[in-house]
Amino acid sequence: MPEALRIRVTGVVQGVGFRPFVWRLAHDLGLKGWVKNDAAGVEIHAEGKALDGFIARLESEAPPLSRIDAVVVHAAAHEGHAGFAIVESTGGRVSTAIGHDTATCAACLAELFDPANRRYRHPFITCTHCGPRYTVTRRLPYDRPQTSLAPFPLCADCQREYTDPADRRFHAETTCCPNCGPHLQLLDAAGRPIAGDPIAATLELLRAGRIVAIKGLGGFHLACDATNAETVAALRARKAREEKPFAVMVADVETASRYAKVGAGGTALLQSAERPIVLLEKRIELPGVAPGLAEIGLMLPATPIQFLLFHDAPELALVMTSANPHGEPLVTGNDEALARLAGIADAFLLHDREIVVRCDDSVRRGSGFIRRARGYVPRAIKLPHAVPAVLAVGGWFKNTVCVTRGDEAFVSQHVGDLDNAAACGFFEETVAHLLAILDVEPEIVAHDLHPDFHSTRFAAAFAAQRGIPAIGVQHHHAHIAAVCAEHGVMAPVLGLALDGVVLGADGTAWGGELLRVEGATCERLGHLRPLALPGGDVAAREPWRMAASALHALGRGDEIARRFADEPAAPTVTQMLARGLNSPPTSSAGRLFDAVAGLLGVRRRQSFEGQAAMLLEGLGARHGEAAPLSDGWRMQEGVLDLLPLFAYLEDCEDASAGAALFHATFAAALADWAAAAAERTGIRIVAAAGGCLLNRLLAAALRSRLAARGLQLLEARALPPNDGGLSLGQAWVAGRGA
Ligand code: ZN
Ligand code: ZN
Ligand code: FE
Repeated sequence: MPEALRIRVTGVVQGVGFRPFVWRLAHDLGLKGWVKNDAAGVEIHAEGKALDGFIARLESEAPPLSRIDAVVVHAAAHEGHAGFAIVESTGGRVSTAIGHDTATCAACLAELFDPANRRYRHPFITCTHCGPRYTVTRRLPYDRPQTSLAPFPLCADCQREYTDPADRRFHAETTCCPNCGPHLQLLDAAGRPIAGDPIAATLELLRAGRIVAIKGLGGFHLACDATNAETVAALRARKAREEKPFAVMVADVETASRYAKVGAGGTALLQSAERPIVLLEKRIELPGVAPGLAEIGLMLPATPIQFLLFHDAPELALVMTSANPHGEPLVTGNDEALARLAGIADAFLLHDREIVVRCDDSVRRGSGFIRRARGYVPRAIKLPHAVPAVLAVGGWFKNTVCVTRGDEAFVSQHVGDLDNAAACGFFEETVAHLLAILDVEPEIVAHDLHPDFHSTRFAAAFAAQRGIPAIGVQHHHAHIAAVCAEHGVMAPVLGLALDGVVLGADGTAWGGELLRVEGATCERLGHLRPLALPGGDVAAREPWRMAASALHALGRGDEIARRFADEPAAPTVTQMLARGLNSPPTSSAGRLFDAVAGLLGVRRRQSFEGQAAMLLEGLGARHGEAAPLSDGWRMQEGVLDLLPLFAYLEDCEDASAGAALFHATFAAALADWAAAAAERTGIRIVAAAGGCLLNRLLAAALRSRLAARGLQLLEARALPPNDGGLSLGQAWVAGRGA
């Protein structure tokens, strides 16, 4: 061992207490030298005897929020330092990632509820290991002036902690105290201050059945008593949210277990520092919270404000739903809250720490994501190799954007559906912010093939402005590529893309394809037998039309008017289908679920995308496992035809048995289809993606069916399987093709 070492550490090592950790470790081992942040991460100069132990402990004892990608060690000349110091950051090109928001840590919680502590009940308590990061940071380097704590200069006590390497708030950029930090305020519906302790007064309102807008990390929540059916109904009515499920926050796992079957996996997710909403099987029904669904979304407190509320009222179950009226982006500003939530909230629990970056709650189920946002963004997804700098702009629904830097891909928080001006504005903000915090100049822009998406138009303009190529990536190619990218698979795969209606490479409406994907190339090996969409887009909102379409395909179009006698459009739909007017065909898998929901009488119309399929899944789950209908499908030249199954379901009296049978048969058919392609192509890996993979009955059955055929199934884990993962796939395809 030489007498001195120069050590470079890369990964997530800034803003996570890494330098003080190094400082303490060096002091522990009696080493001399220095540590500093620079553009590439952290650099250390260490001299002394215990250098071996130093390197080992650097990796094994690293702070909880850090992630070390590499430790590169070089022998160095002895510089003869008298002590170990933390020296000033050196600027230059930024190449480290900023941290993600995390729940208040145990040490801070202990202080929060310790009457002797100077931060007793301080709603903004935080340290180097916890608290807001991504949502308060404008740009790198991650220093207080770049965060929304900039207007709150540290008081003498906080300054002392901030500059003491032995203190756990050394360089905690968002630290503050009651003397120098932001303050809470409770306002009534008219914006007038409500007297008294804001937490106590908020609880009083909530218990009285009022709806309170509460400022969270990445945006406002609308909160109300989840056990008060009247209040929940009022919230639905005011928010015009019809039937979308609400998430519920409870104090702890024990309380969560009253409402849902939590289990070991659920416990770990609920208690994780990221604090996502976790979908769990319901134990009891909270009226109006998640109507008709088998699952409920639960989460535990994440911020000091939430901990204070639940500390004082541990029995509480609070609806905590995103405050995003009319499907527009989440409300983040105080004035904006008062304006946009007028008529919805009875009161506003506000504070003066600005939310810099809008970020919804993440939603998880088991090992997968349904929505990836707060707590996980902006963590990188490791790619199998470096690619050029790509900006991928995602699709239309559940939009996210992705930026690559070397062998890392950074996928933004869930932006949402780009169907309104505000969402499009948020999309553009997100692109700008992500590029800024990563300091990336894109060399390529990747987008969906659909010319009318806001994201596609933005990509074209962005590329033209900078004189860089814009590459269109077919929707399903991107879905499958996203799965390959996160699993580091370079070999060719069979891709099962099971989705809503998307634009295919041939200009027709796709939605259920079997693909061969290898890097930047994609071949359509087969597709589901197309069904007509009577009325076009409206068929996606009205499952009964898809049921009518299935009847028509079975040669039983004459039954449509009778079966849907109370649908005024039934005769028109019959005519449309008979004459092939305004009834474009689609191979969409999602529309099959709609057709079944329509046939079984589960749902005639849906109030949000995927609702009929979710209800069908809930019914099937309650029924329990079913055997597939053995002659429920046909395969011909790559086309998978499920009409025999539909013929059976059409006369099925028991909706829940029918739902279970449909899931089982569809999965068996898909596995059969994939196995036949595996036989032909010699490819044994199947990647499956698309919105339908969120259906756990289908996913579970597909998993076991493919395994039984000796095929390996790759699924989305780091990102949702739906369009939330599209941008990663676009980036990977464009990056590899270049
Ligand atoms: Zn902490
Ligand atoms: Zn202070
Ligand atoms: Fe999709």
